[in-house]
Amino acid sequence: MTEHFDVVVVGAGISGIGAGYHLQANSPDRSYVILEGRDRLGGTWDLFRYPGIRSDSDMYTLGFSFKPWTDAKAIADGPSILRYLDETAREYGVDRHIRYRHRVRRADWSSDEALWTVVADVDGAEVTFTCAFLFMATGYYNYAQGYTPDFAGFADFKGRIIHPQFWADDVDYAGKRIVVIGSGATAVTLVPELAKQAAHVTMLQRSPTYIVARPSEDKVANWLRSKLPARAAYGITRWKNVLLQQYFFRAMRKHPDKAKKALVDMVRQELPGHDVDTHFTPRYNPWDQRLCLVPDADLFASLREGKASVVTDTIDRFTANGVRLASGEELEADLVVTATGLEIQLLGGMPVTIDGTLFEPAKHMTYKGMMFSDVPNFAISFGYTNASWTLKADLTANYVTRLLNAMKKRGMRQVTPRLKEPVEAIPFLEFTSGYVQRAAPQLPRQGKRAPWRLHQNYTLDVMALKFGGIDQEMEFSNPVLAGRRAA
Ligand SMILES: Cc1cc2nc3c(=O)[nH]c(=O)nc-3n(C[C@H](O)[C@H](O)[C@H](O)COP(=O)(O)OP(=O)(O)OC[C@H]3O[C@@H](n4cnc5c(N)ncnc54)[C@H](O)[C@@H]3O)c2cc1C
Repeated sequence: MTEHFDVVVVGAGISGIGAGYHLQANSPDRSYVILEGRDRLGGTWDLFRYPGIRSDSDMYTLGFSFKPWTDAKAIADGPSILRYLDETAREYGVDRHIRYRHRVRRADWSSDEALWTVVADVDGAEVTFTCAFLFMATGYYNYAQGYTPDFAGFADFKGRIIHPQFWADDVDYAGKRIVVIGSGATAVTLVPELAKQAAHVTMLQRSPTYIVARPSEDKVANWLRSKLPARAAYGITRWKNVLLQQYFFRAMRKHPDKAKKALVDMVRQELPGHDVDTHFTPRYNPWDQRLCLVPDADLFASLREGKASVVTDTIDRFTANGVRLASGEELEADLVVTATGLEIQLLGGMPVTIDGTLFEPAKHMTYKGMMFSDVPNFAISFGYTNASWTLKADLTANYVTRLLNAMKKRGMRQVTPRLKEPVEAIPFLEFTSGYVQRAAPQLPRQGKRAPWRLHQNYTLDVMALKFGGIDQEMEFSNPVLAGRRAA
């Protein structure tokens, strides 16, 4: 049996829940379903369970535009974020549209029918849906596996090795010697948290990352909330944080040397007597990679107290008792945590075809960072690299509803971004981070001009996606047949 919806959303994380809200609010006469492969909502915030899991951007911008974040902490722990998502889905009735354990296996577009056919696996059985518009809210990484480099001697190690993406309840780290490999957001979160109970934690990094300490509570936000209604306080705080982030981002990109010195000097103040040049002075410029945030300087506190330490070196091989480094030093360990990253994956890893031809994102150009050249009735939610994901996810979902409404008004069943003139192509993501570089061959390209340019800038995107025209190099076609409805 095939079920039809006007819109199929794949994924019930932040993006999918937000998509449900915007569809209900702006295109209330369109039917939609959210197909979620797992048996719970929340995506990232349900999957990741390692100790200390928390946001590394503030919840006033990681929260939805329509649902105030009212906890005192701006940098929130994973369970609080999951509760917020759960509450949002219930409050707006989005939860009633979610079909759990529906892993979408493929999607095929037919221009003749102006229809997507979406096939999902439900407990081993195939279920088919059709829809006019397909919205991929599948996130950006592979849930089935994380990234672990091919370390020599992995099998020789007698202790336990665990990747944070697959943290298990039975990992006992009290009193243990732990080596955390990595220096990204996950490593800097794990180290102070594990250090509370471990004998010692060593953060082993190949090269340093910029680490910035920030209070976990936003005093201005909490003051505003004590004076104003929650919605007003949230709205003001959200814009305050957006504008501050944009200001600091631009200033750091414009004056990288000054920024580098300021960031490293802050670490020097936190860690007197430590070798900041070796361990906390990256070789790249700020924002060539994402900055790492440590709330209330917790990482620095555990380093100062000697509960944790940092080693900057490369791994020669694993041994029975730990990790041997290129320098010859051996780090003894009972537990090794490979905080070595994610594996980027677009489209939930599923094949998508357009009139029988496989859609390969790398051969297409992204349109406003959410659609693709020559791909009809299809959008993805992909957040910012330099700001909170939800800012862009909100704008993307809102833009999709604008398109749907225009299609209906114009009696057209198909919208396709079309390049009218050649445009110079540049990489989709301009980060030098390993996970981005590894994924580059599967990512689309972006153009040097609008609407093919991927702005990492919320204010510009508000203008382009919320208030800008929708006809810019967008083809409306495939008129509604007599007696049928547009998307
Ligand atoms: C540890 C960690 C911390 C982070 N912290 C921040 C932060 O502080 N700030 C920030 O802005 N960003 C952060 N991010 C990025 C984060 O992923 C986004 O903020 C956001 O959660 C992404 O939401 P999403 O709904 O787009 O994707 P996800 O949360 O990844 O959800 C995708 C959903 O789609 C489902 N799905 C995927 N494929 C299929 C399929 N084929 N069929 C059916 N269902 C499918 C998945 O099961 C999942 O539920 C963090 C990421 C990680 C891993």
